[in-house]
Amino acid sequence: MRAEIISIGDELTSGQRVDTNSAWVSQRLGELGVPVAFHTTVADHLPDNIQAFRLACERADLVIATGGLGPTADDLTRQAVAEMAGVDLVEDAGALEHIRALFARRKREMPPNNLVQALFPRGSRVVPNPHGSAPGIDFELPRPGKSLARIFCLPGVPAEMQEMWQGTVAPAVATMLGAPRVIHHYRVKCFGVGESDLEAMLPDLIRRGRVPSVGITVSKATITLRITAEGPTIPLARESMQPTVDVIHQCLGNLVYGYEDDEMQHAVLRLLRERQQTLAVVEWGTAGLVQHWLGECADAAAAFRGGLVLRDAAGVEILSGLAAELAGVMGLASAPAMSVVAQAARERFATDFALAIGPLPEVGQNLQIAIAGPPGVVTREIPYTGHPDILKPRAAKQALNLVRLAILNNPQ
Ligand code: ATP
Repeated sequence: MRAEIISIGDELTSGQRVDTNSAWVSQRLGELGVPVAFHTTVADHLPDNIQAFRLACERADLVIATGGLGPTADDLTRQAVAEMAGVDLVEDAGALEHIRALFARRKREMPPNNLVQALFPRGSRVVPNPHGSAPGIDFELPRPGKSLARIFCLPGVPAEMQEMWQGTVAPAVATMLGAPRVIHHYRVKCFGVGESDLEAMLPDLIRRGRVPSVGITVSKATITLRITAEGPTIPLARESMQPTVDVIHQCLGNLVYGYEDDEMQHAVLRLLRERQQTLAVVEWGTAGLVQHWLGECADAAAAFRGGLVLRDAAGVEILSGLAAELAGVMGLASAPAMSVVAQAARERFATDFALAIGPLPEVGQNLQIAIAGPPGVVTREIPYTGHPDILKPRAAKQALNLVRLAILNNPQ
């Protein structure tokens, strides 16, 4: 069984509202083990709605539509389903009673327009909407030579749609499926090489049709490997992925820094906590970005001891006593200068590690960083190139990644 989701409304096709319903329903269907083959978004236009339902019923066995169930002239879903199926609309007494009672509870007169919300394509069942006026539609369409297509139409309002999903649609889909299946995703997060280099290190894993499948995406230099597996339960689906996770670790080693929603700062803090070690950060070019990321982590307190944000050469002297030590080095943007800053920060903050990030270079030049740790100081150059929007965060992420590697390479 595969599904299609139809989102209906001018608001969506004109770009004024983002279609979050499709994403939500897709995730719920995934949890039930139903793959979603298509998302269709269609404006409030009857012929297009009819066509969208017709096409969906040809290519999917389960169709979930949201929107267009209101009482106004541009709410066309019930009419579209009826016309597509070649049946008329008939009043449902129970639904009418529900709408009347809703208005009575709100001490408002029911406008005649709302009567339309009690109309259903002949042969359909009502999906109750406990907190809204638009009941949903559950309709089965005969298909020549094929099993019935099942259509559920739900209101567009996310809270109502979600309540009706949990109350009626999810149990109905589970019954359709018989033995329960889930589709589970697990993300392995990597950093440090380009996408194609990483792909070349994973022979065979990204191959189409592999079970479990592995997809690869890149965002802001973080590469995410998304493993997808099916199983009777989430723990069993997760278990079936473990050999694939192991192969990824064997092939990529320290390029893997975390899982699921992990960012680089989570990985660094986790390592520090495990080893009961601490970090200080002095930033110039990245203007506090690394410290912001670290400070935002709920459990940062013990491992991230603090730091400084420098804006000019004078600020460096806040790390008192540095003027004399820096006198001998050639310019603050140099590796030796960052080395002195990192060592001073490690001493003043009394931490195991200290990261110093130098002033921003011209695009195309190298950003200087230094990491002071138990075995001494290492300096690194980070190439400062790429799209302007991600230059600074990528440099900050690279600097944090070097801290991660320094911690890992430091035997305890
Ligand atoms: P109502 O009875 O409230 O009119 P309806 O079924 O007619 O319900 P719409 O009028 O299409 O639903 O949408 C109602 C509201 O729900 C929209 O204004 C919008 O805020 C939200 N909405 C509709 N569709 C979506 C969607 N796909 N994703 C997110 N929000 C949506």
